[in-house]
Amino acid sequence: MRSESAITRLEEISSNLAQVNERIGIALKVANRQAESLTLIAVTKTFPTSDAAILYELGLRNFGENRDEEGARKSQELGGEIIWHFQGQVQSRKIPSISHWARYVHSLDELSHASKFLQQPNLPEFFIQVNLEEDRPDRGGVRAGELDRFIGDLPEEIYARAVGLMAVAPIDQEADMAFGAMATLSARVRANHPGISGLSIGMSGDFESAIIHGATHIRIGSSILGSRKALT
Ligand SMILES: *Cc1c(COP(=O)(O)O)cnc(C)c1O
Repeated sequence: MRSESAITRLEEISSNLAQVNERIGIALKVANRQAESLTLIAVTKTFPTSDAAILYELGLRNFGENRDEEGARKSQELGGEIIWHFQGQVQSRKIPSISHWARYVHSLDELSHASKFLQQPNLPEFFIQVNLEEDRPDRGGVRAGELDRFIGDLPEEIYARAVGLMAVAPIDQEADMAFGAMATLSARVRANHPGISGLSIGMSGDFESAIIHGATHIRIGSSILGSRKALT
């Protein structure tokens, strides 16, 4: 019984992944982009390590997690040559652990966190999260109007490891509009800071739009692994 359900899960994930890859392929073609210009991050949050193992078997090497405990555990259990991405809200006391397992942090949005990362023996690379909800300062991310100053105030070693911008499209906004704004912002930032050229935008519901608008990293969970019981 057990092996039968395991095979079913493999088939399920494999078929979902094939569909996502097909949609990615079409969007890349529309955008006249090469496949190499895009990294697919499989968001494994709330799913068991066995699912991540299946994705590894299917050739994926980039995995995303929102919570430190979960990422720390799965990265240990899975081993292998995996690039782990932390994309949840950063909590100061978790920074030593996060920097231990995550190669990329997509959610840098506080200078105090940058200083704390700086004290860690393993420095990740960073995407600076942008908050596109002007009326919701409680949301994660630096507001667009404060981004230049935030980047200017980053400690030098953190600045050197800042590789891009990240955003989540607001629920009440067309993804096309949000990602169009991010593309403009990214071009502006890149003009002054050539190293900050990445663009981590696009999830299950909007990744095609993100690809059209120049995403370099898309973070996809439910389209590959199915719906989560609890949203994180
Ligand atoms: C959960 C999550 C994702 C993946 O979302 P799906 O809709 O399941 O693809 C991507 N980015 C962030 C920041 C998330 O929290």
